[in-house]
Amino acid sequence: MSKLKVSELFYSIQGEGRYMGVPSVFLRVFGCNFTCGGFGMPRGQISLEREEIANKISEFKNYKDLPLVHTGCDSYASWDPRFKDLSPVLTTDSIAQSIVQMLPHKEWQSEHLVITGGEPLLGWQRAYPALLDNPLMDSLTEITFETNGTQELSDEFKSYLKIWKRTKPNREITFSVSAKLPNSGEKWDDAIKPLVVTDYQSVGYTYLKFVIATEEDLQDAKRAVELYRKAGFRGPVYIMPVGGVESVYSLNNRNVASMAMNEGWRYSDRLQVPLFKNEWGT
Ligand code: SF4
Repeated sequence: MSKLKVSELFYSIQGEGRYMGVPSVFLRVFGCNFTCGGFGMPRGQISLEREEIANKISEFKNYKDLPLVHTGCDSYASWDPRFKDLSPVLTTDSIAQSIVQMLPHKEWQSEHLVITGGEPLLGWQRAYPALLDNPLMDSLTEITFETNGTQELSDEFKSYLKIWKRTKPNREITFSVSAKLPNSGEKWDDAIKPLVVTDYQSVGYTYLKFVIATEEDLQDAKRAVELYRKAGFRGPVYIMPVGGVESVYSLNNRNVASMAMNEGWRYSDRLQVPLFKNEWGT
């Protein structure tokens, strides 16, 4: 029986990207190849907020008790090993059962499934077929993988996804690629993988989404888009304001919207911030 280490499983409104506003089940799996400590920090500096929280980890018994952060990766507990005990290992059968229980009609209607992380395309690719093949998932029609765009799809998983899509005409797979620019604190060559992202297009609708705070970030995004296009990337580009908390997000959302209009790109909000204050489980 397949298992996944699950950081969060919740029902909410998708706040970002193509499915913004769509009621969605979020399956957040544990583990990431990055740490993204640079978000919201001056260039070259790394956030220490996560360290401060980790130092008093014994105070937090549940994922939902963890403090929200203003800087760095806002889903730090879904990959930092110090928080790993807050993410249980669950069978794919029990995950499917929990999912249908949280759907308002106890079955899929027009809700969509978001598989996120951490980085959901690490080793967990092996377990998704068992989850999606569970009879309780039969009427699910739309899935998004929220990925950082650095992980190749295995041949087995690619074949599986093609079959999953072909067996019902209204099924749709999306790769929401949040490629990391230098403002994340990650190195360019580790984060910008045009050939990896281009390959996702063979299985599903693929788009790029960049987190932007400054003009310098915009210039980085333009440079990255040029490389993705050269490699054959055909999808749309979204830009989204930095900010896991409202005070930071509302500082630059209008600027980023203007940048999107100037570039002919798409603006993505972070609806979970104004709607739900980016609380855990939203
Ligand atoms: S890739 Fe995403 S989940 Fe991983 S550290 Fe960066 S922001 Fe966090």
